Amino acid sequence: MQKKNNSSANVQLKRKPRRKKACPLCVDKVYILDYKDLNRLSRFITDRGKIVPKRNSGACAKHQRMVAESVKRSRFIGFIPYCID
Ligand SMILES: [Zn+2]
Repeated sequence: MQKKNNSSANVQLKRKPRRKKACPLCVDKVYILDYKDLNRLSRFITDRGKIVPKRNSGACAKHQRMVAESVKRSRFIGFIPYCID
């Protein structure tokens, strides 16, 4: 086995070190996410009505769980549609 040479040949393939996105809910210091708070929830729903994944929304694990819970709650109540065509 040859050792991979990580020098000049791979320079172009190297990606810029990206800074991790800060969780928008941590920035706002949201401790309780209200399912009636549609202004806030609308950031975490796609135009088709799906919950935006963590990798796109930038939410931390804790807040992503809260988002999922409250989106599902407000769908059940009827504030948010289950799907938009
Ligand atoms: Zn967070």
